[in-house]
Amino acid sequence: MTSINSLVVPTSQRYPHIVATGFTTAYLGDERSLREFIVGDYICSQIAQSKGNCLLYLINDSYDPLKYSQLRIALNKDEKMLAQFEHFCGCPIAEVPDPFGCHESYSQHFSDAFLKRLHHLDIHPVMLDTYQAYRSGYYNQFIETTLENYSQIQEAIAGEFDSLIIHDLLHMKCPKCHHMDATHIHQVVNGKVQLECNRCNTNRWYDSKELQGKLGWKLDCPARWNLYKIDVETFSKIHLAPKSTFVVAQFVSKHFYGGNIPVPVKYGVVQLDKEISYNLIKILPPIILKKLFLEHFNRDIKITKESVEHFCHRFHIQPGISYIDYIQKELPKHAIRTAARESMQAEGVSHPSEEILAFFGKRFAKFYYNKDHFIGFPNLQTLATVDTATARAARDIIVHVLSVRDEHQTEEANTHARIGEYLKDQHKAPTKVVQFIRRILGQPQGLRLSILLTLFPIDYLRIIQIALDFYTNSASDSIDENTKLALKLSKSSPWVNLTPNSISL
Ligand SMILES: [Zn+2]
Ligand SMILES: [Zn+2]
Repeated sequence: MTSINSLVVPTSQRYPHIVATGFTTAYLGDERSLREFIVGDYICSQIAQSKGNCLLYLINDSYDPLKYSQLRIALNKDEKMLAQFEHFCGCPIAEVPDPFGCHESYSQHFSDAFLKRLHHLDIHPVMLDTYQAYRSGYYNQFIETTLENYSQIQEAIAGEFDSLIIHDLLHMKCPKCHHMDATHIHQVVNGKVQLECNRCNTNRWYDSKELQGKLGWKLDCPARWNLYKIDVETFSKIHLAPKSTFVVAQFVSKHFYGGNIPVPVKYGVVQLDKEISYNLIKILPPIILKKLFLEHFNRDIKITKESVEHFCHRFHIQPGISYIDYIQKELPKHAIRTAARESMQAEGVSHPSEEILAFFGKRFAKFYYNKDHFIGFPNLQTLATVDTATARAARDIIVHVLSVRDEHQTEEANTHARIGEYLKDQHKAPTKVVQFIRRILGQPQGLRLSILLTLFPIDYLRIIQIALDFYTNSASDSIDENTKLALKLSKSSPWVNLTPNSISL
């Protein structure tokens, strides 16, 4: 991983330090876009540790024109909504209404959703809305400089970067049709701008004060470096290539806009398999998702279902326990313990971090292994599938387990050891009987029976015992008492609704 020691924060004594990231919230999209912010947040925390307070900015390019390809993703390819909204393509996304009607604008809707996603990852940037900043006049000095020096800036860039021509230093909104994706500036002379719009086929001169718009991408970047005094900015590698954004922006900043140039931090491109996209955020706890994106962050990464599982084998949630170990060995126990606690009215609530782990772990287990973690009702239909001797042996085991559990052992390990010892005896617990009990518990595979019988709620096991009593007729004297108990439990217990029909003997 790139060390912060290899990053040099500019020598200025400005404070707090500023790390910038950027995004166009034209749609939410999958997890690929998260890398920039995970890296930015990591750099920010490293700077804060070594140099003091540091802020993470998220510059929301809400003044960019909406593209049809973005709208399609945003509206989930809904043809009816697309027909309603496609005429907004080419307008600034901040000026498009919210298709879902819950926010002030399209841009607000998606920036809100994106911020929620970042907060979920415990990343809390300061969002700066570009449209508002332009409309409030914060960019005016840079726009004026650009208009005053229009051809000089173009010539200087062409001279420095091997005849690179930037035709439109500014993207103006057409005053007639309000779109900005098909306008072109032909000339700028003494504060007058000759603007052509290919959407509404106009071509005329305007006083620059009549026009609204934003700087082109390679000029917007150095403008905001100087406006917001940015120290470090994250860039994907394409923006750091020769003649690309960063080097041109560096040149423009130095010669025209004030000279502030942040340290660029490069992050590699993320490729994400369709099979796993939109799932990563559901199945990985934030700490693991962040680590996945941060590892070797300046290199490209290809994320597949296999590579994520492999990573989760390597990621240790505790010394010696990987996330996969947790899902396979600890999560099933956690699921039963939680269910047991719920039946006891939540005594001894587990630690929040354990709950978070279990929350994501359950979804991971479902996605990867199609495994659900919950306790169902006891499968009493199973009872009549075995002979009376097997049922009687099962009943004896349950009775023994309940007597051990009733001793209120404080140490779960002691209870488990005693139950395990009992089950080792092949005479008392032959394989056939063990499998029979597992079927009643609805746990044909997974945790050992000794663990299941240690963790399953006591009232749940009592119900099984009562049902076995009925079946084996071995407790005829106490049936009346047991029936009363069963009916009482059926009212208070979440496990079973013991009506006469629910036990088919
Ligand atoms: Zn909304
Ligand atoms: Zn127009």
